[in-house]
Amino acid sequence: MSQAVYLDYAATTPVDPRVVEVMMRHLGPEGTFANPASRSHLYGWLAEEAVENARRQVADALNADPREIVWTSGATEADNLAIKGVVEQRGGGHVITAASEHKAVLDPCGWLERSGVPVTYLAPGADGRIDPQAVADVLREDTVLVSIMHANNETGVINDIDAIGAICREAGVLFHSDAAQTAGKLPLDVRATPVDMLSLSAHKFYGPKGMGALYVRRHPDVRLSAQIHGGGHERNMRSGTLATHQIVGMGEALALAVAERDAEQTRLAGLRDRLWDQIATLPGVHLNGRDAPRLAGHLNVAFEGVDGEMLLTALTEVAVSTGSACTSASLEPSYVLKAMGLADDLAHGAIRLSLGRFTGEDEVDRAGQNVTEAVTRLRDAARSRA
Ligand SMILES: *Cc1c(COP(=O)(O)O)cnc(C)c1O
Repeated sequence: MSQAVYLDYAATTPVDPRVVEVMMRHLGPEGTFANPASRSHLYGWLAEEAVENARRQVADALNADPREIVWTSGATEADNLAIKGVVEQRGGGHVITAASEHKAVLDPCGWLERSGVPVTYLAPGADGRIDPQAVADVLREDTVLVSIMHANNETGVINDIDAIGAICREAGVLFHSDAAQTAGKLPLDVRATPVDMLSLSAHKFYGPKGMGALYVRRHPDVRLSAQIHGGGHERNMRSGTLATHQIVGMGEALALAVAERDAEQTRLAGLRDRLWDQIATLPGVHLNGRDAPRLAGHLNVAFEGVDGEMLLTALTEVAVSTGSACTSASLEPSYVLKAMGLADDLAHGAIRLSLGRFTGEDEVDRAGQNVTEAVTRLRDAARSRA
């Protein structure tokens, strides 16, 4: 029996072998291992050069200036820095976000609320999108920050960050977007999109885990209070010795993803549609976010009369999840699907199938067959119990 088909690329991706090779050159005694902050020897200068080369790769992917890239330990830290950093710098103020955001945004917002900062949580529409007008409607005199993700990690639904950003810019309010699911997958251009901060995570685009970045706009200048102190690295925004091998891995991974983006997204959309066509032969299936623009590799599907957790157990040939990796340990229905207005029983019956760079047609067919068989079997079993 071969291994289960990995269809959980939205939770994390393996590191691309080409990226592994670059990372390996920055680890051992023969490699560029030194502290990039060491200014007194060639070892340090070479490490700094590698870090700055990667900073340019990440900046180029966003059409940003390298000085606008702040290295972090991932998108969770980038989200924390953006949200808490702005509110602390401003000495308080109202924050707007959405109920369907990742926990990496919701939890810092909850933390701020407990310390007295007012936060408004917008509900997505039934299609999963945040209506830009809804943002405009809840702006206040004291609003300092709007944080709305680019694409949702559970549904793959893509928000119109150009329109939301334009509303924020017009109102003089900073706009942050968690782009962990879209960097390397959708075109991102900070000269065209009025976004002030963007969170990125390397392990969502075939780079290493534990590595990310926050894009922080310089014109007009975004001021942030550091959330990690010690040493004053990253222009005082994020202290800590830079992880050279992680950083070069992130730079290389993003450069590769951008270079191959169009071909890869086209291929993934084809595979996704192929998988959906097989699943859609079943009665009582719902494609969540079907009416909205969605990421090419994502399928979030609810099955009437089937419990998502039981389905996961029955899916012996496919590695998938019920939604976000962070909440799949709980038996609660997905808060993202519930925010979209899905009934509890349907939200309980939903699974996320996410495809990626190493997914093949044969794997999609194996997964499609396993899903249709398992759903049919679970429904038959429920019927004979009734
Ligand atoms: C994965 C993910 C995160 C967390 O990123 P880490 O680098 O694992 O901290 C945050 N937001 C979204 C939308 C994600 O998909």
